[in-house]
Amino acid sequence: LAKLRLQKILANSGIDSRRNCEELIRDGKVRVNRRVVHELPAFADPDTDVITVHGKRIESTAKVYFLLNKPRGVICTNKDPHGRKKAVDFVPCSQRIFCVGRLDADTTGAIILTNDSELVNRLTHPKYKIAKTYEVVLKGRLDTKAIEKIQKGVWLSDGKTEPAKIRFIKRGPDENVLEVTITQGMNRQVRRIFSRFGLKVKRLKRTQIGSLTLKGVGPGNFKPLTKKQINYLI
Ligand code: URA
Repeated sequence: LAKLRLQKILANSGIDSRRNCEELIRDGKVRVNRRVVHELPAFADPDTDVITVHGKRIESTAKVYFLLNKPRGVICTNKDPHGRKKAVDFVPCSQRIFCVGRLDADTTGAIILTNDSELVNRLTHPKYKIAKTYEVVLKGRLDTKAIEKIQKGVWLSDGKTEPAKIRFIKRGPDENVLEVTITQGMNRQVRRIFSRFGLKVKRLKRTQIGSLTLKGVGPGNFKPLTKKQINYLI
C-alpha cells in the first residue's frame, strides 16, 4: 500500500508547505483522478493516481538516490554566487535533488544525492552517528601523541569530536597517508582536527559512508541506489 496523505504528497512535490497544501485541499483546488477532494484526511498513491492542483498535474514524487564520486572543485550546494560546478550537475535527473550533507569543494569522493528530505534529516541528524571514512594525505609529521588524542576526541571551537578510528596506509617523515573514520559531520571536521596539531591536509577523499563504497564509481561518475540499499548499508 503506497497511499500517502494527500497534503504530504503535494508538499513533497514542492507545491507548498504541508499546512498550505491542506488549505488548497479544503478550498477544492485539488483533484485526485479528476474528482475534487476537499475533505481531510485524504489519501492517494503518488505513483498511480493522477493528482492535479489548480488543474495542473503534479510531478511524480518518486524518490531517487544516487552515490556520486565528487571531483575536486565541485560544490555541494545548489546555488553558488561564484558559478562553480555543482554536484547536482553530474547527475542527469529531472527531479530537484540535493546533497546529503556537504563535502568541501576541495574534498573528493562519496556523496549521496536525493530528493528524499526525510532521508537527509535522518542521515545528517547527530543521533544516528553514521561512520564516514576518509583517506587523508597529510603534510608533516604526525606523532603518536596526536594520534592518541584524535582517537579519543579533540576540542574544536564548536565542541569535542567523538573518538575517531585511524589506520595508517603510508607512514613517512613528511607525508602520511591515513584512513580516518568519524561519526559526526562538523564543518571541515577532518581538516580542523589535523590543523589542531599543526598539520595540513593535502588531499581529502571520502571513501565510505556507512558500508557504502565507491567501488566501480570513478571521479565524476555516479551510481543509482535504492532506498533498500541505503537502509541496509548506512
Ligand atoms: N571533513 C573536512 O574537513 N572536509 C570535508 O569535506 C569532510 C570532512
